[in-house]
Amino acid sequence: MSFASLGLSEFLVRALDEQGYEQPTPVQDKAIPAILNGGDVVAAAQTGSGKTAGFALPILETLSQRPAQGVRPLRALVLVPTRELAVQVGESIKTYAQYLPESLKIMTVYGGVSINPQMMGLRGGCDVMIATPGRLLDLLDNNATDLKSVETLVLDEADRMLDLGFADELGALLKLLPRKRQNLLFSATFPDGVKHLTQTLLVDPTEIEI
Ligand code: AMP
Repeated sequence: MSFASLGLSEFLVRALDEQGYEQPTPVQDKAIPAILNGGDVVAAAQTGSGKTAGFALPILETLSQRPAQGVRPLRALVLVPTRELAVQVGESIKTYAQYLPESLKIMTVYGGVSINPQMMGLRGGCDVMIATPGRLLDLLDNNATDLKSVETLVLDEADRMLDLGFADELGALLKLLPRKRQNLLFSATFPDGVKHLTQTLLVDPTEIEI
């Protein structure tokens, strides 16, 4: 299987070629077509499996087919447990998106640093946001962004998110999202908390186990 045969445009494939990605990893093989189809997905995937590209590429493909006009409504939200992961995922997504004909605005926000530059950065909106839960709630409290246009929600490393005690923040964020949306959950392990999240969050998901 090639990335193009999974349904990705030449613009994304060009960036992947440049990164030296020759063929999709197993999680990408399964996740990319399922996510392009618009359904919910739950994937058991470790760091190193290529999970980031597994969710980022189909999201970018879909967004680039329907570019936003004017002020950019936030259409894809990626929640991650830590600042380090936020930075890493944000950089990967920007690399994949670099040759798209309609450029997308991709923002990474996390706690532990001043909120002001992030608020300034969000003026004019953004298409894709990578966020840690606490900082996103702070930004929402400050009216720096809103979640009412989110079409796709990604919970990355859901097990670590719960381990780090983000269940309440997650609950608060879920209440602010539109009911009709695509949900993608990635986790290395599936303890009871993650299983419960999977059952309450996902609708008839494609299950991916590598
Ligand atoms: P991840 O599991 O998303 O953290 O990705 C692990 C590493 O694999 C990252 O350094 C990616 O750049 C790299 N990677 C992801 N997909 C591929 C691929 N299809 N071919 C080669 N490297 C990849």
